[in-house]
Amino acid sequence: MHNQTNVLLWRGQTTNTKTGNIPTAYVRRSHYDAGCVGCPHYGRPDTRPEEQRNKSGRRGISCYAHSGRVAQAARAMERKADREPIGYTVEGAMMSRVISARYARLTAIGDPTAAPREELEDALHVIRSHGLRAIVYTAQWWKRSNAWLQPFAMASVANDGAERRARSLGWRVARTIDADRFARSVRRHLGSLAQSIPIEGAPHLTACPAQVSTLTGTPAVTCNDCGLCSQDSSASVAFAEHGSHAGGRSWTRLVRAWQEARA
Ligand code: SF4
Repeated sequence: MHNQTNVLLWRGQTTNTKTGNIPTAYVRRSHYDAGCVGCPHYGRPDTRPEEQRNKSGRRGISCYAHSGRVAQAARAMERKADREPIGYTVEGAMMSRVISARYARLTAIGDPTAAPREELEDALHVIRSHGLRAIVYTAQWWKRSNAWLQPFAMASVANDGAERRARSLGWRVARTIDADRFARSVRRHLGSLAQSIPIEGAPHLTACPAQVSTLTGTPAVTCNDCGLCSQDSSASVAFAEHGSHAGGRSWTRLVRAWQEARA
């Protein structure tokens, strides 16, 4: 299924310094809704009179993918993909990847479950057949129809209740936590390998090594080095809150928390 109707748009290379240069999929801008409904950062329907409504038709959206430059770039990518669909297939991404790529990210923007199961299964098969492993997160883990993704994906969760529920359903979790707690956990384990720092009060969660290395100024770790989130891993991972929902410039907040933890 590789035509203009594909929901996932693939690129073989990326300049993303956190993931490293690995094949990456993006959900078509026009298909965000299918994977975003139910996400706490997706806001609520905008019921104001039409002339006052946002373009998105929703209010209270706190996800970076729905506004500003990210949304514009996603629209531009979709237009290009419609003109030249062959350049945005998973096979094309595998062929144009750098030889050092070990993982493929699915997805950088939008929830992968916006794509039909058939398209996802096809992508996962192609990734594997090229010797790579998938890194997949979904905020739609609570839907029974997405349980089939468990061997490949992590459940994105943001609080204790959601984490408990996801784990009880059998998911590994990608958990966002408060910046202060993340910084304190790293501080407590300074000198440990960046790959193995447990979170204070939740030792089953490992602090994302890419965030740890950026925070501490140790040699950069990318997803392509790490792979804790990949389909072959059994780890659950913690991330310091990021994105506009974390309250302003969250990375600045994290750095401040780090400085305070070190003091
Ligand atoms: S834990 Fe590893 S694979 Fe997951 S986001 Fe962090 S660096 Fe990437």
